[in-house]
Amino acid sequence: MKTSKFITGLRCTICDRMYAPTENIFTCPEHGNEGILDVEYDYSAIANEISKSSLAKSRDFTQWRYTPLLPVHPETAPPPIPVGWTPLVKADRLAEICGINTLHLKDDTRQPTGSLKDRASAVAVMKAKETGATVITTASTGNAAAALSGMCASAGMECVIFVPKSAPPAKIAQLLAYGAHVYLVDGTYDQAFALCLEASAHFGWYNRNTGYNPYMAEGKKTAAFEICEQLGWQVPDQIYVGVGDGCIISGLHKGFKDMLKLGWIDSMPRLMGVQAAGSDYMYRAAASGEDIVTYPPINAATVADSISAGLPRDRIKAARAVNETNGAWLRVEDEAILAAIPLLAASSGVFAEPAAAASLAGLNEAKRLKLVRPEDSVVLLITGNGLKDVASTMKGCALSHKEAMTISPKLADVRDKLPSSLH
Ligand SMILES: *Cc1c(COP(=O)(O)O)cnc(C)c1O
Ligand SMILES: [Zn+2]
Repeated sequence: MKTSKFITGLRCTICDRMYAPTENIFTCPEHGNEGILDVEYDYSAIANEISKSSLAKSRDFTQWRYTPLLPVHPETAPPPIPVGWTPLVKADRLAEICGINTLHLKDDTRQPTGSLKDRASAVAVMKAKETGATVITTASTGNAAAALSGMCASAGMECVIFVPKSAPPAKIAQLLAYGAHVYLVDGTYDQAFALCLEASAHFGWYNRNTGYNPYMAEGKKTAAFEICEQLGWQVPDQIYVGVGDGCIISGLHKGFKDMLKLGWIDSMPRLMGVQAAGSDYMYRAAASGEDIVTYPPINAATVADSISAGLPRDRIKAARAVNETNGAWLRVEDEAILAAIPLLAASSGVFAEPAAAASLAGLNEAKRLKLVRPEDSVVLLITGNGLKDVASTMKGCALSHKEAMTISPKLADVRDKLPSSLH
């Protein structure tokens, strides 16, 4: 089996046992589905292949500019469609509204399938090729499935998708358009996840599931590399990210740890995990002080479907991401998430789906709790495109009193209804 020559092993996040990258296992056999593995590398060997100055000369404006830091063999071809190196947008007007001096938006709405999940799914397609699999599968609340479908379409591979029947129609439309085999599971995401594991074991399909496949956080960590490189290797003080399963925040943490080990940066940002009030497992578990491995599942319900998770799969790594960076867990109501969609769009031009706008709602909450100072430099990770969930956008606009007016096709009617600012 081909893989990166820099991987020294896969370590169980519960018992610290190490496994060889060629063993083709996903989780620690001692700990079953809970025993998520973390990929470890030989950083001194990596430092011979990639540096800040080699990156400065690189003409590869995709996430593959960081290939020596990714868990793939250098000759494994990525999907042809470009992934990563999304813009870091300076958002001065939004900064002023939020009372922050320096605010940037990492705009992953501009990924090929419209969400940050492309970073991981592209890696999944490459890992599947390396193991010789021809079919890939995942369960997903929507975006991971859309990303896998899109990356498989680009690479010419087959994929089988299990999504809860309740997934937003735009996401299901994406799956079908990309040519995936789609099963709408009459049940929850957790049931779809269990079914997907069973099916992949039975049919021998490569499994992309978040918080199960150890390579997904590795793909997501490229967002951390890009943020630092785009800031001229400055480390922001705080990064806000919507958290469901906890894989993105874990990936960010991993990316920053990699850069620390390579000496590219000398401090960590505080990672601020934002959860919907109706899906606040991490927030509650942290407040309880109980063991994250055994803290019981909750019933999750939120408008932000991409961060709805009753038992976050990557909770061990996610808890460490916040603890080890002196970050915080923030909890925001659905109304605040919905209202953040038009606030973000109107003040910056970046159009987010609810789970992505949650990062802005989280910043507002941190402001209220005095967890952020005006002089802190802040990055909001905007993880998914607003077009994926138009119904929620309309709700957010209605909450913010942004409504379209119906008029007769007459100039007089326009004049009558024009706000005074436009006269
Ligand atoms: C998946 C997703 C998240 C949350 O990522 P987790 O790894 O599940 O915590 C946030 N926003 C969007 C748009 C997503 O698709
Ligand atoms: Zn273990």
